[in-house]
Amino acid sequence: MKIGIMGGTFDPIHIGHLLLGEFAFEQFELDEIWFLPNGNPPHKDTEEMDTSLSHRVAMVEAAIQGAPHFKISLHEAKEGVHSYTYQTMLEFHELYPGCEFYFILGADSLFSIEQWRYFKEIFPTCTILAAMRDDKDIADMQKQIAYLKEKYGADIELLRAPLLEISSTTIRERAAKGLTVHYMVPDAVADYIKEHHLYR
Ligand code: ATP
Ligand code: MG
Repeated sequence: MKIGIMGGTFDPIHIGHLLLGEFAFEQFELDEIWFLPNGNPPHKDTEEMDTSLSHRVAMVEAAIQGAPHFKISLHEAKEGVHSYTYQTMLEFHELYPGCEFYFILGADSLFSIEQWRYFKEIFPTCTILAAMRDDKDIADMQKQIAYLKEKYGADIELLRAPLLEISSTTIRERAAKGLTVHYMVPDAVADYIKEHHLYR
């Protein structure tokens, strides 16, 4: 089995995340995509994250409903626990022997990966699928991929997906102003945000 891992804070999950999953599934002929919401991400300022884990998980579940190749993994969904990607990947290899893992990320993550704790340990555990985002163009991406390959022996492929200038930050800001987030998130997620008065 070839498994794509889409890690994130998902505060909230949006169509950028889902399209990355969908295009990775297609381009690399994966069997499943696992959305992996993190509990208390070590490389993110926790001050700015006040959406409870249960809401973030519920929105991922709502977003992937009806897509049988999309699953959610609660492996890192532990309140107050710092999960490290390499550790999760090693545990996945133990739990699911015979699976190959493809870690999906956007350009911002590819360019900041050297700031992650234990980032070098990630490379032997998976293939990284990196998608363009915002201001990084294809030449920037190829340069960064070549650099990480050369320096760390990383296995990284360019993931070709539609370029969408959408972030969870934008969605939170729009919701806070009372603006619509429709079409930026699946309907079920927009409904969930409304119903639970998130980001107000
Ligand atoms: P925030 O604004 O809160 O940081 P985000 O939209 O960046 O949220 P994250 O949960 O931080 O979402 O991102 C999870 C992963 O998805 C990261 O690797 C990020 O690069 C990637 N990603 C998110 N949105 C996009 C997008 N529109 N295009 C490409 N990659 C994306
Ligand atoms: Mg982000």
